[in-house]
Amino acid sequence: MTERTLAIIKPDAVERHLAGKIIQRIEDEGFQIRAMRRIHLSAAQAEGFYAVHRARPFFTSLTQFMSSGPAIVLVLEAADAIKKWRTLMGATDPAKADAGTMRKEFAQSIERNATHGSDAPETAAYEIGYFFAGIDLI
Ligand code: ADP
Ligand code: MG
Repeated sequence: MTERTLAIIKPDAVERHLAGKIIQRIEDEGFQIRAMRRIHLSAAQAEGFYAVHRARPFFTSLTQFMSSGPAIVLVLEAADAIKKWRTLMGATDPAKADAGTMRKEFAQSIERNATHGSDAPETAAYEIGYFFAGIDLI
């Protein structure tokens, strides 16, 4: 079933000029890029995006990092896109990520881990709607 997911090239990867390499991999793996935008999140916008994690010990550090510089947000479309993109990203902790994954290749730490991907259909719908309007996705 064709599905959409939200991907983010996080500030660490944008700062290190890795966006082009990551987008190339996304295209090579057969995703359609349905929408894409560069955005520098405010602290409040990062807190809203990661609201599900607000009780976690890393929440303040994570939202500071995510608002520290520009990021690129994308809507990716493919069969089974949510799982497919998470597989390509690799494990949250780059030390545990498989060879060839985005996080193994590009992450610096469990926090500065280069990319984000939605984890379920409900979160994908929320996260896509956080950044893009319906009219952007026709
Ligand atoms: P994922 O991004 O793989 O879905 P989570 O949803 O669990 O992972 O966490 C969201 C983000 O929070 C991670 O991508 C990472 O940037 C950061 N993070 C997760 N766990 C930790 C941790 N133990 N210490 C610091 N940052 C973390
Ligand atoms: Mg997550």
